Amino acid sequence: MPNDPQPTETILILGGTREAADLAKELVAAKPEARIITSLAGRTREPAPLDGEVRTGGFGGIEGLARYLREAGVTRLIDATHPFARQISANAVEAAAIADVPLDIRTRTPWAKQTGDTWIEVETLEQARDAIPPRARVLLALGSQHIGLFATRDDVHFVVRMIDAPERPLELADHALILGRPGDTAAVETMLLIAHSITHIVCRNSGGKSAYAKIEAARDLGLPVVMVGR
Ligand code: NAP
Repeated sequence: MPNDPQPTETILILGGTREAADLAKELVAAKPEARIITSLAGRTREPAPLDGEVRTGGFGGIEGLARYLREAGVTRLIDATHPFARQISANAVEAAAIADVPLDIRTRTPWAKQTGDTWIEVETLEQARDAIPPRARVLLALGSQHIGLFATRDDVHFVVRMIDAPERPLELADHALILGRPGDTAAVETMLLIAHSITHIVCRNSGGKSAYAKIEAARDLGLPVVMVGR
């Protein structure tokens, strides 16, 4: 609109995490004169509502992101993506340099093992799969793109939690599917672990508050966690 005042700042948040949503809320409240845009990859069908503007879908690599930064007049780029979303974070570094936009990296610190935790620490998802003992009952707390890797473990019962229903049936031989977001508290996660007679959790060390409840629940119940490091 020709009479609209130009925003003093245009901040692009690379999101898809609870922290990014909190940050958008904070910035919208703190900077009413600024334009706050959150970018989502578009993996979740019905993402939770976000404060400020939202754009969805890939940019088209480094060049595409650099072009977007220039065309939208972005004055600050914030990478608040998930720590295992490595490609977009690498692209952000390059694109910010090309477009000469300051980049603020807000990657979560990994969780640290605490007294009472029984962690089987591994480096890769393949090692995690191989570390599961025969006939275990596993809460597989991983993104849908990683589930297929566990298909060879037909001796294991998997419990898989997903936000959206999968488009195709899961490749796992013996499994239960739970649709929904992770529980917010250790008590909620403990109930799930008990209800499914879980003996092990498999997850990645993503850090942050929102996925930590299951780790606390495992500690309370004395369950081992196969933890994939960064
Ligand atoms: P990725 O492997 O690092 O990124 C793959 C491609 O997806 C990127 O090259 C980019 O496409 C597009 N993309 C990723 N994040 C984007 C964003 N925020 N906005 C626009 N495009 C994005 O990422 P991923 O591991 O698939 O994760 C995708 C999204 O889910 C991220 O936003 C992340 O924060 C969120 N997430 C990931 C995990 C996880 O475990 N990886 C967990 C929770 C949430 P172009 O090259 O075309 O730009």
